[in-house]
Amino acid sequence: MTYQVHCGYVEIADAKGVLVSFEDITHVEAISQMRRDFVANVSHELRTPLTALMGFIETLQGPAKNDPVAQERFLGIMMTEASRMNRLVSDLLSLSQVESEERIRPSLSIDLTLLIGSILRSIGPVAEKARVALVKEAPSDPILVPGDEDQLRQVFTNLIENAIKYGGNDQTVTVKLTQMERDPALRGPGVRVEVCDTGPGIDQVHLPRLTERFYRVDSHRSREMGGTGLGLAIVKHIVNRHRGRLKIDSSPEEGSRFTVILPALD
Ligand code: ADP
Repeated sequence: MTYQVHCGYVEIADAKGVLVSFEDITHVEAISQMRRDFVANVSHELRTPLTALMGFIETLQGPAKNDPVAQERFLGIMMTEASRMNRLVSDLLSLSQVESEERIRPSLSIDLTLLIGSILRSIGPVAEKARVALVKEAPSDPILVPGDEDQLRQVFTNLIENAIKYGGNDQTVTVKLTQMERDPALRGPGVRVEVCDTGPGIDQVHLPRLTERFYRVDSHRSREMGGTGLGLAIVKHIVNRHRGRLKIDSSPEEGSRFTVILPALD
């Protein structure tokens, strides 16, 4: 615990003395530590591609000046690094936007069956390239939730893209939608969306930390896959904002399951 001490001289009626009070600032200290960690993480994440870009620019100005083959190759790598920075900046903007809007509840009526169908169609070519079969299991009736369509699209896109990326090639990714008459935590009707892969799974020790900003199981692999380490942090914030919750289950034999529970439209 961290305390701040306040001292002062006081006179109350005939009594004179020194007043000493202690204020518990553990919470304030924790927030400022989190802010410092966040700035350090962002700087590190931006510096990595920037350093690579500067190195290649120097090479293009010097040793590779008259080598068109090397120039072509280095420009390709520079494009990859610049795209990485671009993704990081847009994920940071998304995160800051959902964090600042935390208290405003999204209220438009969204049909999750249609939304998931549209996401699966747009991710189709990426899945095909990795020989991943995408399966949707949903009731025929619309499944309606109050929500922000762009944000919910981002939630399920992140989860399905992760299932394809980290689940690996030649597997099946299933998105299952279930209407629940009553969810005990929501104290009312809810909707469950499960994104399951049949990949190698995630070790239990990592599960509680997966939604932390910049937390990765394998940093090298995540960067290689174009990850920013912010995807699940964004998912968690958006789900909270919709008064829902995110649950992660994983085992090496069965793969991973990311479950999002949202309140259904009344
Ligand atoms: P990233 O941008 O690195 O993908 P995320 O926040 O989306 O960041 O995910 C955090 C980490 O969780 C990833 O780096 C990866 O190690 C792990 N992860 C996420 N989804 C899965 C999955 N379906 N299977 C295995 N590991 C996963």
